[in-house]
Amino acid sequence: MRSKTSYSEAEIDWHDGVPYSRQFGDVYFSSDSGLNETQHVFLAHNQLEKRWQGLQSGHFTIAETGFGTGLNFLCAWRLWDNCAPPTARLHFISMEKHPLTHADITQALSLWPQLARQRDQLLAQYRFLTDGFHRLVFDDGRITLTLLIGDVNDMLPQLAANLAANKIDAWFLDGFVPAKNPEMWQQSLFNNMARLSHAETTFATFTSAGEVRRSLEKAGFAVNKVAGFGRKREMLCGQYMGQLQTKSAPLQSNAIVIGGGISGCASAHALASRGWQVKLIERHAALAQEASGNPVGVLYPRLAVKDNALSRLSLAGFLYTSRLLQQLNLNQTTYSACGLLQLAFDARESTRCKAIAAQNLPTELVRLVDNNEASKLAGTSLAHGGLYFPSAGWVSPPTFCEALARHTNIEILTSSCALRVTRKITRNGSSWQVWGDKNLLAEAPVLIIASANDSAGFEQSAHLELEPVRGQMTFVNATTASRQLKTILCTNGYICPEVDGQHSLGATFSPDETSTELRTGDHQANLATLRRMAPELHQSLKMQSMTGRAALRCATSDYLPLLGQLLDSTALTAKPPRHNADPAGLPWLEGLYVNTGHGSKGLITAPLCAEILASMICGEPAPIDAKLLAALDPNRFLLQKMGLKRLIASAAIR
Ligand code: SAM
Repeated sequence: MRSKTSYSEAEIDWHDGVPYSRQFGDVYFSSDSGLNETQHVFLAHNQLEKRWQGLQSGHFTIAETGFGTGLNFLCAWRLWDNCAPPTARLHFISMEKHPLTHADITQALSLWPQLARQRDQLLAQYRFLTDGFHRLVFDDGRITLTLLIGDVNDMLPQLAANLAANKIDAWFLDGFVPAKNPEMWQQSLFNNMARLSHAETTFATFTSAGEVRRSLEKAGFAVNKVAGFGRKREMLCGQYMGQLQTKSAPLQSNAIVIGGGISGCASAHALASRGWQVKLIERHAALAQEASGNPVGVLYPRLAVKDNALSRLSLAGFLYTSRLLQQLNLNQTTYSACGLLQLAFDARESTRCKAIAAQNLPTELVRLVDNNEASKLAGTSLAHGGLYFPSAGWVSPPTFCEALARHTNIEILTSSCALRVTRKITRNGSSWQVWGDKNLLAEAPVLIIASANDSAGFEQSAHLELEPVRGQMTFVNATTASRQLKTILCTNGYICPEVDGQHSLGATFSPDETSTELRTGDHQANLATLRRMAPELHQSLKMQSMTGRAALRCATSDYLPLLGQLLDSTALTAKPPRHNADPAGLPWLEGLYVNTGHGSKGLITAPLCAEILASMICGEPAPIDAKLLAALDPNRFLLQKMGLKRLIASAAIR
């Protein structure tokens, strides 16, 4: 999520109700009528209405330089609503160096009541815009916004690295005028645009600067000068000419997902909301019966002092899950963003918390609090302060799973145990067959294995290295005193505020243990963690009757999930490729993917990973950067063992 560039918020003045950038000395949109300007410059000169009415592929991608107030995005969304086929999907990618604050964007967009429906949805998700990739999904997946926070000239290469060539259908070249913003309008911008364009890709820009025209032509675009909007006499628009390859047709849209936990349900949901027909196979009689069956799961980003893959995935995942939960509209008894205190219980932890708080993260996301403020926030006396995450909270994982799987495009096959997977080659391609004891359970060209520790149980996935980790939760009856607890408290364990008369405490961490019986010693360990965090609360709860639940997490040795397409390990080892081989030439198992190994972080990492996978399968840009994507490569341990580490990064994005 965070890249090495560091963003800063937009500094806005208001000139006659129109936002004006102090950083660039220019207005965000025309004071005549920003809405009509967008319509004229970006929508009309990319011929969007005509193209969308006759849309063949069901999917259209716009990329924009400078998100600003989001006006262009909202106008494109509204036009899409009016003229694109009902099942088609719009993907809008926008890059922004100085995001507007929530208050400023709200004020700017209040100028356009005709965009209220779209605006309100945007504003509900427009928060915590840290550096890097953000994925916002609207209207059940009909509209996707990928916001890249950072400089266009840093972000566009990152987009190009995680997206196959020729995927952008139209460019909105916005950004302040070249005279006031020369750093943005560089030749590299136009060259990167060319790399992502295809024969029908168009562009439009409000400027008619000769330098911009020449640079676009140099990159391979045919450029026309046409009448500009309002007081601007001329503007530029045109089409990419450099490459005559058109967008490839989307894959046949049927998929199978094995596993009815959070990872499988989220994977099915991400494809279903793209219009795919999905069969979700679960061996138990209901969804979410194993590690996703705990009544409560905690949602917060586990941040690290040093920027690393785990910490970035954790933050990106937390933001994605939070937005997704908002969309799913779960009620207060199953999801609560009650806030969480990560308590600094010793000197080391205190130094760590301070270092994290000193990072360039929005204070509405995380801030440092002392023990007085922490006690006030928690509603109980605490000996330590720490990090406060106001929007963190808890969710009922089974309810989350059910909400994700409740989709007209998903068929759930419960009490169906997938034992074997075979590949069927046909004249039109190939498909995957999933077999039960004797019968064929399902067949489809795409198969996602998301069955936690059992994910390695198929011949094709046997090389996956997964480790079971036992975890036991404790449920304690609430007392009058303990009912005062308002936030989650956590260290290496946690306690949640009372839900249905009980507090959930969790969870022990016992690697390589596969028993799920309840153990008194584990209850005691959970209570000992509570004592360290909140002695008074512990005093009040320690004699209460308690029950519990134990389950097996599914972890990996580097604590990162396994996500993506599988390589054929037999073919790979029989004929090892060179370390600089072309990834496209590796023995890929076409259509076979995994989403597993989420350890104890599944609620925050699995939904984002599902979205990454669906983007990968549909040839859309991933919601995370290429480096992080490579860190999740499911073949990484196999490639590492073969001395082919260099192939991991390049093989992840094909
Ligand atoms: N498209 C916007 C809208 O619909 O409101 C208006 C864009 S405003 C004219 C220009 C935007 O480009 C500003 O938000 C500015 O911060 C952004 N910008 C300028 N230079 C940039 C750069 N190098 N990288 C990313 N964003 C940039």
